[in-house]
Amino acid sequence: MSIALYRTYRPGQLSEVIGQDHVVTALTRAIENNRIHHAYLFTGPRGCGKTSSARILARSLNCEEGPTANPCGVCNSCISLAPNGSGNLDVEELDAASNSGVDDVRDLREKAIYAPASSRFRFMIIDEAHQLSAKAIDAFLKMVEEPPAHLKFVFATTEPDKMPNTLRSRTHQFNFRLVSTRTIAGHLQEICAKENIKAQPAALMMLAEAAAGSVRDGLSLLGQAIAGSSEAGLQTDEVAAVLGLTPRHLVNASISALVADDGPQLFTIIDQVVDAGYEPRRFASDLLQRVRDLLLLEVAKDQAKALIVVPEEELTQMAADAKLIGAARLSRAADLITSGIAQLKGATAPRLQLELLAARLLLATNNEGIAGIEQRIALLEKGTKPQVVSAEPAKPAAAPPKLSTITSPQKTKVEKVTVPVPPKRASTTKTSEPESEALPVADLAKLKALWPGILETLKQESRVAWTTFSESIPLSVSDGVIAVAISDMRVLEFAQGSNHEEKLRTAIREVTKSDGVIALIAASDQTLGRESIKSNQGAKINDETIEEIDGLALLERELGARPLTDK
Ligand SMILES: [Zn+2]
Repeated sequence: MSIALYRTYRPGQLSEVIGQDHVVTALTRAIENNRIHHAYLFTGPRGCGKTSSARILARSLNCEEGPTANPCGVCNSCISLAPNGSGNLDVEELDAASNSGVDDVRDLREKAIYAPASSRFRFMIIDEAHQLSAKAIDAFLKMVEEPPAHLKFVFATTEPDKMPNTLRSRTHQFNFRLVSTRTIAGHLQEICAKENIKAQPAALMMLAEAAAGSVRDGLSLLGQAIAGSSEAGLQTDEVAAVLGLTPRHLVNASISALVADDGPQLFTIIDQVVDAGYEPRRFASDLLQRVRDLLLLEVAKDQAKALIVVPEEELTQMAADAKLIGAARLSRAADLITSGIAQLKGATAPRLQLELLAARLLLATNNEGIAGIEQRIALLEKGTKPQVVSAEPAKPAAAPPKLSTITSPQKTKVEKVTVPVPPKRASTTKTSEPESEALPVADLAKLKALWPGILETLKQESRVAWTTFSESIPLSVSDGVIAVAISDMRVLEFAQGSNHEEKLRTAIREVTKSDGVIALIAASDQTLGRESIKSNQGAKINDETIEEIDGLALLERELGARPLTDK
């Protein structure tokens, strides 16, 4: 049984219109001061109360006790014009979308001439007025320009820009707005109280959010949720099911897995999501929503609680999770999920995409990986300060962070992913050192001075490589790592996916007779802690390699996944 709440709770007078206070106040004053215009234009998104308000205006002006903003509700006019009343002959409603023909217009004009049958005013409410034909507009223009005293017009439209100016300029315009989630939730709460239905505030917030600013949609969704609810009333999980959202416990568990860096657990959850038939893209969106909530909690602390739609009892846990993951990693996770959602659109293998997304999330929220990157960035930043840059090669005591290079099975394969690890782990990981005999580059000032010559040498080798680095500058030199800054993100991305930095390295070796691993960084982004450092070593990266590193290999290497073989 579905309860048509939006019919039961339609407003019958201005004070009952939800979330349009500016319109209600202005119209109420106009009625009280007897300054009613003869033609109104109500604009705004669908479902926010334009047509209801037009009917209420007619009811207010035609009440036998009126005109009044508080129609008596008992006179003939009030009864017939009540929200679920029979209507009356003096209030005409025209849907411009379906009747904008010449005959309909002629019909209306004839009706307009006559005085109202039983009311003070004759009303014409024209819905979707932007769809009126040119002929219909002309007819209305004449009526609006020289209106009989008994005639009132309300044009309602979602697209006022499509209304001809000639007509618009002769109306009083009121702009209806989308109603805030909080206002809709409050309204739903009142209705639940009247209907004697228990409801978790968070469940109502979820419904209000799904209503996207439309009170009517909110009531319609509430009706569906009530129809499907148990004795306990409206619960978040049931509402999530009605709205087609992923159950909260799956989203909660995903976050817990990320916090605990628990790969197997996260993949088990994805298994459950796919097996239970939940839409993978929906799951990713819900996860993004949660990451957004956590980010807000971490950044805005207590103030964020007003902006977050979750059960009160989960807030403490969420705040703790947010603190553990940290704003930088949450922001990175949000980026990854956003691009993951884009990739899931129309994906032929959504499960695979979801698993790849999970793998990337685990890497991005993994403490060790991030700590390593942060440490490297800190070192690079230190290197930019002149007094710290040493003229001598770095001493071993400086404990440089080692690059642990993931080796691929075939020698021709090239590494796309290089994960820096903290020094304490250096002894257990394979380290990659510049393979040449040349001494590491140590003097930043000297390198900068030689940079034009290096670029010139590069130009002889490859014009494309030269173009890539023509705007670059060496930013720091530290422990055999040369940080090269590129400000244009597109160029940076291109460079990171190419073998040109190896060519640059060769040119550096040629000109300076010293060597260094090149780390490309975004010039303006370096302090943000983003993953702007990538060290590509090797000769060639082709599409096949990238695909393999991004996909199966990433899962295998980082999470110990094993491919399932066909039986
Ligand atoms: Zn009345």
